[in-house]
Amino acid sequence: MQTNKNSDPRSQLPSVSDLLDQPSIKRKVDEYSRQEILKIIKSTLDTLREKIEMGMEYTGFENVVTAIHEELAKYHKQDLRPVINATGIVLHTGLGRAVLPDKAAKAISELNHYCNLQIDLESGKRGKRHYRTEALLCQLTGAEAAHIVNNNAAATLLILTALCKDKEVIISRGQLIEIGGSYRLPDCLHQSGAKMVEVGTTNKTHIYDYENAISENTGAILHVNPSNYHIQGFSEQVPIEKLVDLKQQQALLVIDDLGCGAIEDMQQWDLPYEPTVRESIQAGADLVCFSGDKLIGGPQAGIIVGKKEFVDEIKKHPLARMLRAGKITEMALEKTLRLFSDKEKLIELNPTYKMLVMPERKIKNRVHKIKERLSKMDLQLKIESVQCKSAVGGGSMPEATLASWGLAISSNEISAERISYLLRAYETPVIAYIEDEKVVLDFRTILGTNEEDKIIQAVESVDGKI
Ligand SMILES: *Cc1c(COP(=O)(O)O)cnc(C)c1O
Repeated sequence: MQTNKNSDPRSQLPSVSDLLDQPSIKRKVDEYSRQEILKIIKSTLDTLREKIEMGMEYTGFENVVTAIHEELAKYHKQDLRPVINATGIVLHTGLGRAVLPDKAAKAISELNHYCNLQIDLESGKRGKRHYRTEALLCQLTGAEAAHIVNNNAAATLLILTALCKDKEVIISRGQLIEIGGSYRLPDCLHQSGAKMVEVGTTNKTHIYDYENAISENTGAILHVNPSNYHIQGFSEQVPIEKLVDLKQQQALLVIDDLGCGAIEDMQQWDLPYEPTVRESIQAGADLVCFSGDKLIGGPQAGIIVGKKEFVDEIKKHPLARMLRAGKITEMALEKTLRLFSDKEKLIELNPTYKMLVMPERKIKNRVHKIKERLSKMDLQLKIESVQCKSAVGGGSMPEATLASWGLAISSNEISAERISYLLRAYETPVIAYIEDEKVVLDFRTILGTNEEDKIIQAVESVDGKI
């Protein structure tokens, strides 16, 4: 059947070029890219055309523009962008682990210029990468040499590939760990070409288990800090210094995968004992590796420190080039490491430490003030202040919980799931957790007054949607 073109409501839909010329959409082209906007305009028009075919009435140009903006907002949500962490988990892997210190973030923001990454400014010749960061790492840990790669998984792979390929690597069955994000130590060992020799049992490994496993093919003993779990009760692992003693019988390497990379003794802040890098070096480990974004509180990175002859060998291995860290990592790590020179500075300027050591009463005060402000707003949502428990996170100190305070939000009209969804849907998404049918916002991980103001706006916006 032939339809009269003008009576077909589909033909009333605006053209793509008219929409692109519409001022509010034109502004979006600057913010995103023309291709992205075009794709969204076309798909929105397709959807409207289908709806019109099914009998929906065309409601005018402005409504098409609104529909496009709604689609754009949905699209923008998927961009990588800042969120507010109200989970109380300080090193939250899903939220990017460590929050960078301002100094580190500022240094990165200056990378819209060139930098002296690999040039010696004295001679004008090509220089060494990572020189400054490596020197800082040696100062802080007492190690002879250091090397930086993309993450700790890469650090472990590089050490094992460069130094233990085709050799046996002895590891306790109690230390064959899996870390979130599908990193499993046995896979890493396998990839490196080293042969894994498991000793002991899940809960107990003795020094004689290692002794009995040493052969002429042994390349190393790998000791792993079980950083993301804790075996309680009848359990025993051999400390690193005892493993180092075994080197008197046979030339082998002792490698310590510390994971968290504590520089300072965490007990000084009433946190559980966590082996420090310096302790491991002093005990005689040949190589120690750890992450840059756990207890360093810096960028994602894998850090190797240890004896110069072995670090040099690692640097020369072809895999080192493939796993090398970039200038963004380098800059952020350098600025973060400097903060360890002074404990006051560390707590004030490294957000990870600021959050970890924040006293309970201070958090309670902050929560109280926010609750006061919210109570003046005549909201339908029920808002209480509650005690809660924060965690270190990032696979660090699994048994440590930190007493904290937060807001618990609930409603008779909408479910906790819905409230939590609406908080995530806010301009600056707020990530909270649900407990006893209430949405809990732990204030330990909420950064400063700026985020507190945003929390208030987010709660008000959720209230408006009931
Ligand atoms: C976290 C961790 C890793 C993995 O580190 P990434 O930096 O995430 O690659 C490896 N080993 C141990 C013991 C860890 O704690």
